[in-house]
Amino acid sequence: MRPTPAPGHWSLVLGHWSFPPLLLLVFLSIVVRVSATPGEVRFGREHYIEYRVGELPIILTASHGGDLTPEEIPDRTWGSRVTDRHTREIAIAAFEEIVALTGRRPHLIVSHLHRRKLDPNRPIEEAAQGDPHAEQAWREFHGYIAEARARVVSEHGRGLLLDIHGHGHAIPRVELGYALGAEELNLTDEELDRTEYVTLSTLRPLAQSHPHLPLSLLVRGPNSFGDLLNRAGIPAWPSPQFPHIGDAQFFRGGYIVRFHSRLENDHPVAAIQAELPFPGMRDTEENRARFVSSFSSSVLRYLKNPVTFAFTLPELAEPLPFSAAEGDLAGCGDGCLPILSVAAAPAP
Ligand SMILES: [Zn+2]
Repeated sequence: MRPTPAPGHWSLVLGHWSFPPLLLLVFLSIVVRVSATPGEVRFGREHYIEYRVGELPIILTASHGGDLTPEEIPDRTWGSRVTDRHTREIAIAAFEEIVALTGRRPHLIVSHLHRRKLDPNRPIEEAAQGDPHAEQAWREFHGYIAEARARVVSEHGRGLLLDIHGHGHAIPRVELGYALGAEELNLTDEELDRTEYVTLSTLRPLAQSHPHLPLSLLVRGPNSFGDLLNRAGIPAWPSPQFPHIGDAQFFRGGYIVRFHSRLENDHPVAAIQAELPFPGMRDTEENRARFVSSFSSSVLRYLKNPVTFAFTLPELAEPLPFSAAEGDLAGCGDGCLPILSVAAAPAP
């Protein structure tokens, strides 16, 4: 039985309705938010957080590459405060490269704050450690991603979030975080394909809409993102080339990719955390440019896969072959997704 509302409750509601200008303002702000146009660049308070509004079904994020250390926000006192060098520049360069390749923009959300001040890849308690300005920046960062998700899913039906980080582990490969660590990735394909791991994985929106595709195929099969990176010359795992982690150090993916791929959210998207080694990829300007070129075309190739995302995007040039991949790819048999045929890009 519903409780009878106290008179005070009704007067509050009626009181609310007695302020139409306020309601009008709320309504207008909703209209303005939804009608944000691609190409628009938005900033949160003090320009700590930046959102470049896009129109492609791709959301790029960089949370640990900022360098602002405003005095108004005290340093965080617990949790990691190590910055991921050059990941902000790499995310911005990947945004620009994808625009150059497609003529259309991905969504880009960047934290310009140093990780000493804010860690958007953690729940708000650890991220902001009680500081109200840091908490506001955290809400803006995740609010912009939620807005990008809503836009991507309503315009395209599905999408992909790529969260870009840097690691200092001994093996210089890109670590792809699907919320699956060594414990899960050392399992056999048959074990990994169990429902509990599908539910755990940040590819769950993709897996849900393609229940016939086993999780092992999505994370380390032919045409998985790791496979495409390897074939474009960027060593990456999990992948057909490097399917198991063994006892190596490996980042499984943090708060951003886990939260924004939750099926309980409105407009969830598939998400991958990409952890880049420093040597060969982030260390010099030349290596960063080479990385961004191969990475960006791999992202587009991944989304063009007709079996999974099946997005219509421009033709791309053939990637550089990665010699270690060839033997493994030759033996994939009936379990293979079709290798995409990609034509050379037309001369400009
Ligand atoms: Zn990081």
